Amino acid sequence: MNTCVECYSEYPRITPLLNGKDCLENHEQYICGTCGRCICIGKDEKRGLQRWNFPFKSLEIAVLYLRTADVTEGKNCGIYEIVSKTGRKSYKVFPSVEDLKKYLLKNKDKSCDLLQPIFQQKEYKEFSNTQIRKLNEEEVNKYLSEQK
Ligand SMILES: [Zn+2]
Ligand SMILES: [Zn+2]
Repeated sequence: MNTCVECYSEYPRITPLLNGKDCLENHEQYICGTCGRCICIGKDEKRGLQRWNFPFKSLEIAVLYLRTADVTEGKNCGIYEIVSKTGRKSYKVFPSVEDLKKYLLKNKDKSCDLLQPIFQQKEYKEFSNTQIRKLNEEEVNKYLSEQK
C-alpha cells in the first residue's frame, strides 16, 4: 500500500482508533480529500485543545494525527520524542522547535535529547478536496462499515 500524500498514512480507514462512533458523530473531522480518511480535528470543550496537542504513545499513532496539526498551524509540524524522568517515552507534535523548548521549560520532568523532529513532512502542502466538518449519520455509518 502507498502512503497517502495528503494525510501521511497508508491505511485509509485506520482512524478513529478508539470509540470511533462517538468521535465521528460528535467531533469535527478532517476528511482527507485524497483517501477519505477521517481524522479528529475538533477542539475539546474544556481546554480548546485538539487531539494532536496531546502526547501519543507511539510514533506511528502520532503520524496518524500529524496532518491535523499541519493544517491547523498552516505549516509542516514536527513529531518529537519526549522522555519523562521515569524513562517513559512519548511522542508530541509541535509547530516548531521553539514550541518544544517552551514546553520543556514548563515541564521540567520531561526531556527531548535530539531537539529535532523525528518525523516531519519536507514542506507544507494544501490539497483542494479537503473538507473539515462533522459527518452526517449516513456518512458515519458508511465509514464505520468500511473500517471492518
Ligand atoms: Zn474525536
Ligand atoms: Zn489520506
